[in-house]
Amino acid sequence: MALKLYNTLTREKEDFSPIDPKNVRMYVCGPTVYDFAHIGNARPVIVFDLLFRLLRHTYGAQAVTYVRNVTDVDDKINARAARDFPGLALNDAIREVTSTTEAQFQADVTALGTLAPTVQPRATEHIAEMIALIEKLIASGHAYAAEGHVLFDVPSMPDYGRLSKRPLDDMIAGARVDVAPYKRGEMDFVLWKPSADDEPGWQSPWGRGRPGWHIECSAMSWKHLGEVFDIHGGGIDLLFPHHENEVAQSRCAFGHDVMANVWMHNGFLQVEGEKMSKSLGNFLTINQLLADWPGEVLRFTMMKTHYRQPIDWTVKSLEESWKTLDDWYWFVGDTPGTKPAKAVVEALADDLATPKMIAELHALRNAAQRNGGEGARDALAGSLRFLGFLADTPDAWAARRKTSVSVDVEQVEALIAARLSARKHKNWAESDRIRDELAGLGVVLKDAKDPASGEMKTTWEVKR
Ligand code: AMP
Ligand code: ZN
Repeated sequence: MALKLYNTLTREKEDFSPIDPKNVRMYVCGPTVYDFAHIGNARPVIVFDLLFRLLRHTYGAQAVTYVRNVTDVDDKINARAARDFPGLALNDAIREVTSTTEAQFQADVTALGTLAPTVQPRATEHIAEMIALIEKLIASGHAYAAEGHVLFDVPSMPDYGRLSKRPLDDMIAGARVDVAPYKRGEMDFVLWKPSADDEPGWQSPWGRGRPGWHIECSAMSWKHLGEVFDIHGGGIDLLFPHHENEVAQSRCAFGHDVMANVWMHNGFLQVEGEKMSKSLGNFLTINQLLADWPGEVLRFTMMKTHYRQPIDWTVKSLEESWKTLDDWYWFVGDTPGTKPAKAVVEALADDLATPKMIAELHALRNAAQRNGGEGARDALAGSLRFLGFLADTPDAWAARRKTSVSVDVEQVEALIAARLSARKHKNWAESDRIRDELAGLGVVLKDAKDPASGEMKTTWEVKR
């Protein structure tokens, strides 16, 4: 079966052909561990888990190496450590932040039904490889040391920009954010920078310092996958400058035409039609969502949109996903199926066409219903297991409804408005009826007079 993948490098959907079918190699940029992962971060995790499963199915479970790194050295980590653990020495505080955040990330993504990647290298454990790479770049004339820094010399690479295909002006504007006297070219970027005594640092030929972010991925992919590998993935926001700079470093260090043959990027996630951000108050961590929704509901919701499209994350979509999974759990029961249906695998093999794949799952469900056929039921069960679902028993799944409450915010607000209006008209019976209806949904109301306006205000919370 031919596997087709859209390649950002060529802007085309191509037949995938691994360098070595006995060892198919994929690298995906992982989290910077300083805070809870949000639901946007879950998107590449789920998308490339699906691809990992498909590659294992196609080439054999032992024939795929999937590397997803952990970035545990970064200035955002240092800032968080200083803020949250002011009483500790910075190094201890950093370890506290990175180890708890990494453990939380692993717990979150496991709950999303993902397989562990083959290797999850930490940046701080690959400093020697980073230094070796930087030395190669200096020796070949692609990097220079200046004032304790080492910079990549962008004009030394004639086809810099080939991956992201950005106009030169854009790239210059993007690079201008850190103008520095030691930079020779406007677009040159940092490979290594000096550390103050109280900052994390490692001895290097250029003094005590720490790596830039881009060199970390070049070093870790080299160590675990070699100089050239098959697939490199991540979110579309990483295309420039991060991936462009990874390509520059790895190609110039090793002298190959490409770093990875196929580059894949997932689209961005937004929440209820808006960009997710802390200031808008719509920032959703995986951890928070898992308090209200089973991990498999989050996983399925992510698959309803093709990975290259933007996804709008809504409560409505989550509710529909839960209903669909309820039906499938109930219908499949304890059917033992372990093999995915051919149509499901074929949909996935077409550049991870998950909407098509879901239509095939519904078709299996309907076919089994019509014919009473065990074959289709078995294929549905096998497909769902292959895709990372059905980790619960049917009973355990059904029990989740009872222990977890999810509410439709719009519906609750509409009922509260109707109740306020009933109270204004002194229709106490209707007001009580609505309060009881809300209680049935797990919503508890609190009435209070707004001291400023003297008007009645109702606040509500969900009681678990
Ligand atoms: P970061 O920790 O910000 O480097 O992000 C880790 C991964 O999550 C990267 O592959 C990002 O591209 C991806 N990512 C971050 N935010 C979003 C988002 N809103 N939608 C989709 N992917 C995202
Ligand atoms: Zn990376």
